[in-house]
Amino acid sequence: AAYAASRAQSRSTRQWQQADSAHFLHPFTDHAALARKGARIITRAEGIYLWDSEGHKILDAMSGLWCVNTGYGQQGLVDAATRQMQELPFYNAFFQTSTPPAIELAELLAEVTPPQFDKVFFTCSGSEGNDTVVRMVRHYWASLGQPQRRILISRHNGYHGSTMAGASLGGMSGMHAQGGLPIPDIHHIQQPHWFEHGQGQSREDFGLTAAHWLEDKILELGPERVAAFIGEPVQGAGGVIVPPSTYWPEIQRICDKYGILLVSDEVICGFGRTGQWFGCETMGTRPDLMTFAKGVTSGYVPLGGVMVSQRVSDVLASHGEFNHGFTYSGHPVACAVATANIRLIQQMNLVAHVRQNIGPYLAQRLQDVAAHPLVGEVQSCAMMAAVQLVQDKAKLQCFKPELEVGMLCRAHCFGNGLIMRAVGDRMIIAPPLVMSRAQVDEMVNLILHCLDLSLQELQQKGWV
Ligand code: PMP
Repeated sequence: AAYAASRAQSRSTRQWQQADSAHFLHPFTDHAALARKGARIITRAEGIYLWDSEGHKILDAMSGLWCVNTGYGQQGLVDAATRQMQELPFYNAFFQTSTPPAIELAELLAEVTPPQFDKVFFTCSGSEGNDTVVRMVRHYWASLGQPQRRILISRHNGYHGSTMAGASLGGMSGMHAQGGLPIPDIHHIQQPHWFEHGQGQSREDFGLTAAHWLEDKILELGPERVAAFIGEPVQGAGGVIVPPSTYWPEIQRICDKYGILLVSDEVICGFGRTGQWFGCETMGTRPDLMTFAKGVTSGYVPLGGVMVSQRVSDVLASHGEFNHGFTYSGHPVACAVATANIRLIQQMNLVAHVRQNIGPYLAQRLQDVAAHPLVGEVQSCAMMAAVQLVQDKAKLQCFKPELEVGMLCRAHCFGNGLIMRAVGDRMIIAPPLVMSRAQVDEMVNLILHCLDLSLQELQQKGWV
């Protein structure tokens, strides 16, 4: 803390902001707007809290970027990185070599993932994991003598990363508009978002309707051309969209019917967030491939990968070389930190804590949020939740998008020591899994306070 304080204080906030604007291109950022305002400079963290360069304490209800599952300041992860850096900071896994940390992590991942998974391909990020998926499923089908099976189907408003294939799989129209995406043979169906597409139907009926959009698309394209379907168990970046309980089992049935590979993007949902180790277990699917990142190291160092089921790994193993890999596939330091992180999740019994204790408690406390006059719907799945802001609670009528009510609410959160993200007018949280009940209370009280402030401002503006 002393070091962090002295480092942060070596320049004023304004100086940090000026250097930031001068040299640092941020992800997904309007730099002209950022330069006018100046970035918020985060200087240190402990548990579920961050501190900025002005000394403000902030409750991080987003776990960094959906990743700091075990919270900040876990000394065991620091020690694992330090030890590994001293012993062997890097060696690659090409050319028939391997390293103990990568082997140990591969073994541990096979243990904590569902039984069909016995192998892992390491990447550095979720995006690279999904790029790997695209190449791997096409290579799988080509190896089986069906090279025409090249199409991957995903969902509008899904998020699968920012690389060419990741952003193509994703269904974010703003991303497709830049850089010539999607790449060929990627098709999208509508998302299982009851609030937007399903009102008038029961949630359960809508779940089946939305799953059947997949079957319609498969039949439209020709089942013999479809390689895989990919989705997030719960859409995260799209706005924490929790599908109806009927959706995923029906998706599984449809994939089985046509022999199509099912890919679960567990980059957000993995490592306990939904109350099971992986979101597919919560949703009741049996994926053939599973992308992970973020929570595998609690974000302390970058690491991602693809879990590969026996169905796929058997074919890969008997068809020569898969011409794919990264310098840092199986990076020893990242793997050592991931192993320490997974062992910590096991020792703390964190998945059961989420499923039996803190997840249900959060859901219960969010009922107070759902009662707020500005809130049309609250959805949660263990430690991820969405709060939909509406103009008219009784009619579930939304604000005009150009009013940017979500951003207005987010500004109140920022100003009051709470990090909550806005996706349109959907306020979202995904707090660290290590939260106590008292901390859930603190977070919910902050949310309610910020909703009150937002409502007051909207009233003053005459928008409600
Ligand atoms: N898939 C999902 C579901 C994600 O949420 C993300 C990142 N938010 C990614 C993939 C991409 O991961 P990364 O940013 O590590 O490339």
